[in-house]
Amino acid sequence: MRVIICSLILFFMVGIVQAKNLLGLPDDLIQGGFYVGKVAPGSAVWLGDRKLKISPEGNFAFGLNWKQAGMVKMKLIGPDGVVHPQRLMVKKKKYDVEHIDGLPPKMVAPPAEVLQRIRADSARVKKARAIDSDRDDFRAAFIWPVRGRISGNFGNHRILNGTPKSPHTGMDIAAPKGTAIKAPLGGVVTMLSNLYYTGNTVIIDHGFGVSTVFAHMDTVSVRTGQQLTQGDQIGTVGATGRATGPHLHWGLNWYKERLNPALVLGK
Ligand SMILES: [Zn+2]
Repeated sequence: MRVIICSLILFFMVGIVQAKNLLGLPDDLIQGGFYVGKVAPGSAVWLGDRKLKISPEGNFAFGLNWKQAGMVKMKLIGPDGVVHPQRLMVKKKKYDVEHIDGLPPKMVAPPAEVLQRIRADSARVKKARAIDSDRDDFRAAFIWPVRGRISGNFGNHRILNGTPKSPHTGMDIAAPKGTAIKAPLGGVVTMLSNLYYTGNTVIIDHGFGVSTVFAHMDTVSVRTGQQLTQGDQIGTVGATGRATGPHLHWGLNWYKERLNPALVLGK
């Protein structure tokens, strides 16, 4: 009898472990995290109410909101039509409060005459982030676009010249002006512009809604539509737009969801 009970417990434990691994995801998810999973070809995967894009090989990607907390409900429907509900825990990330002083007042509260430009800027960025291509560069391991001291973390609550602003949407890497910025993954340049807040800005599409943005660049050495291999130089570090000194503001997105770039980098 004891052997039967032990076998049953073992059976259920193995069942739980296997159920989680069906999506090919890590055991611990973190808010603001980016994840690539793999399932049997012909499967369907849902994140909450959202059906995820899946490649013919069964690869998929998604990101979690920076404030996502508790449990996420996912669902796998295998090629055989069997439904496997999945519940994954999301760990919280600690975000700090960051004070930045000495910014020109017009950069903190933009004058009325630039509001139209700012709206046009954000529409262009939004359009680039909505691109839904089939490329699969997102499956590779990211490399640092620039090596340097992290001078601003993702998710920090920013107080600019004493005024609370929306949280920091990327990661700041301090480096001397002119330092080469490299493509962290292969991809295609989908937007290139001089924007009011972020200065010389480049967006690269890595497929399946995954994109990265590079801001405050001094020079830009790519053109829109250019295909990039991981490590290709896209320009140099600068301080254009709203910046107090030369650094790269690097952002990672899954469609419009802003993700934490630090979580995809190796040490
Ligand atoms: Zn930044």
